[in-house]
Amino acid sequence: MELKTENIVKPGELVSLADYTPEYTGTYRKKGQTKTRLKKLNKQLLKLQGLLYAESQHSLLIILQGMDTCGKDGTIRGVMAGINVQGCDVVSFKVPTADELSRDFLWRAHKAVPSKGKIGIFNRSHYEDVLVVRVHDLVPEQVWGQRYQQINDFEKMLVENGTVVMKFYLHISKDEQKARLESRMSDPTKHWKVEASDIRERAYWEDYMKAYEVMLQKCSTEWAPWHIIPANKKWYRNLVITECIVETLRKLNMKYPEPAIDITKIDIDD
Ligand code: AMP
Ligand code: MG
Repeated sequence: MELKTENIVKPGELVSLADYTPEYTGTYRKKGQTKTRLKKLNKQLLKLQGLLYAESQHSLLIILQGMDTCGKDGTIRGVMAGINVQGCDVVSFKVPTADELSRDFLWRAHKAVPSKGKIGIFNRSHYEDVLVVRVHDLVPEQVWGQRYQQINDFEKMLVENGTVVMKFYLHISKDEQKARLESRMSDPTKHWKVEASDIRERAYWEDYMKAYEVMLQKCSTEWAPWHIIPANKKWYRNLVITECIVETLRKLNMKYPEPAIDITKIDIDD
């Protein structure tokens, strides 16, 4: 059977992640072939970000999910290279604090969504509440089971209020994760990145794949679809995601607002 490549999951589509090749690189063979294109896209993104900010009618929420070492941080660096940092907020979702746990699970996500004109990036997200929480039974099934619908409703509300929601699942193979963990362990400047939880969670790989498959099936919606990104090759991952964001922002057909004052009637003193 031919393996699947990058894909936008259709609402309700059953996904078997084993059918997707994380190695896929399209028509490209190596990083060098994509450098010029990525640079061009980075520039286009900067322009579109300026327009998003000037128009201030929409905001863009980018959600990144995937296994440890899948490249969430690298994506943020590569895709957002050169954008205006004033217009972009990155929020990392860690183990919830006692304060966060005493509220509904969407509270911390909702608090962190970007305001109009801005780009917000979620490094992990409210989806952890149907991933790590499901894998480790951190709450009863009856509780996490309701969350798929609650997430869809939440995202729909955001979209109806002017937020564009883009969701990327960074698909790496178990072998690639091993290689990345080993490379971190053999480089003293990367030791700080290795956490006990990375090794612990790796043992649950199959359970996570199952949890991701259910998430992709239940939470890929018309208003906020999930993209599966082949992510074993970092350069291809960055290229595909940047392309996707540029294309989505372009489709908004944004316009610079009319000046608030009559520019033709203004004299600037010498
Ligand atoms: P990192 O992304 O490496 O900084 O790790 C953050 C850790 O926080 C990961 O192990 C996540 O699984 C964990 N985490 C994030 N959100 C939740 C959540 N809602 N419940 C439990 N653990 C979480
Ligand atoms: Mg980690």
